[in-house]
Amino acid sequence: EAAVNRIAAGEVIERPASAVKELVENALDAGATRIEIAQADGGKTLIHVSDDGCGIAPDDLALALARHATSKIDGSDLLDIHSFGFRGEALPSLGAVGRLTITARADGHDAAEIAVTGGQVSAAKPAARGRGTTVTLRDLFYATPARLKFLRTERAEAQAISDTVKRLAMAAPQVGFVLRDVSGGGEGRVTFRAEAESGDLFEALEGRLRRILGAGFADNAIRIVAEREGLRLSGLAALPTYSRGAAVAQHLFVNGRPVRDRMLIGALRAGYRDVLARDRHPAAALFIDCDPRLVDVNVHPAKAEVRFREPGVARGLVVSGLRHALAEAGH
Ligand code: ADP
Ligand code: MG
Repeated sequence: EAAVNRIAAGEVIERPASAVKELVENALDAGATRIEIAQADGGKTLIHVSDDGCGIAPDDLALALARHATSKIDGSDLLDIHSFGFRGEALPSLGAVGRLTITARADGHDAAEIAVTGGQVSAAKPAARGRGTTVTLRDLFYATPARLKFLRTERAEAQAISDTVKRLAMAAPQVGFVLRDVSGGGEGRVTFRAEAESGDLFEALEGRLRRILGAGFADNAIRIVAEREGLRLSGLAALPTYSRGAAVAQHLFVNGRPVRDRMLIGALRAGYRDVLARDRHPAAALFIDCDPRLVDVNVHPAKAEVRFREPGVARGLVVSGLRHALAEAGH
């Protein structure tokens, strides 16, 4: 079992940023309104994610660490996935590659804590905390020095964590995020902060994108709203006159998941084809939302790729949504 966990862990957890991604997604799935993340030494020695979500009852703590135990799907319809998680692999994987502690409190229950080291799960013991969950992962890959060797510098890993948190924060503007670097110990240094945004969904999104992609982008971007055959497109796209700042590129999301998808990037470029020089990159943050049955997120455990049931519809939606909005804006 420990060996199985270690092998699977290699697929899900490639580097500290992948651990952060899994933990923040769990916090989002738990309905958190505020998520605090801390890392030390690029996440190599410490990753800490704390949320105010639904928490975990003491009796369920050990279950959360069991392989393929997920509270999010009953197995009857693997295609109907509304949450980030559905495999029940992240926590057992993290327990296999680092020293993991989970402290949680659910409504109507006392707080409890459980630890797992080298695949050995301790008995849950009483703890003190408010509603929510805190996961602490120390010494990632301590048992697999070969993986440790392939990590990049602490600075690069810290940057990857920051990018990951910002991407997830773009898609959850109603949630507050704080990221700290605690390498020196103590409270550490806040490296990213985004307060929960208010207003309607679009206002919240605009506020969040302004925070993350900068005022230069937000002030030079137009709203994109379109719909086609059950797929909805929304987001902000830069005017062709905007010369992009270094931090802005193409950010694409499908049902709230950050994705890297060549088809969608191609569609984004095609939407700008007539108004942007070929050597320039359009800056945009676009969100496609649809019934989970219309898109397959099972392509890879890291879940960065998607497969639309009708790729042509998704492509057409992005191309025409952009062209229409750009034309309306006089381009
Ligand atoms: P998955 O997210 O695919 O269900 P994980 O291994 O990431 O699998 O988590 C296992 C289970 O642990 C989840 O299904 C959930 O019930 C519980 N869990 C994990 N993280 C949290 C959290 N932050 N808040 C509440 N429950 C959590
Ligand atoms: Mg998960």
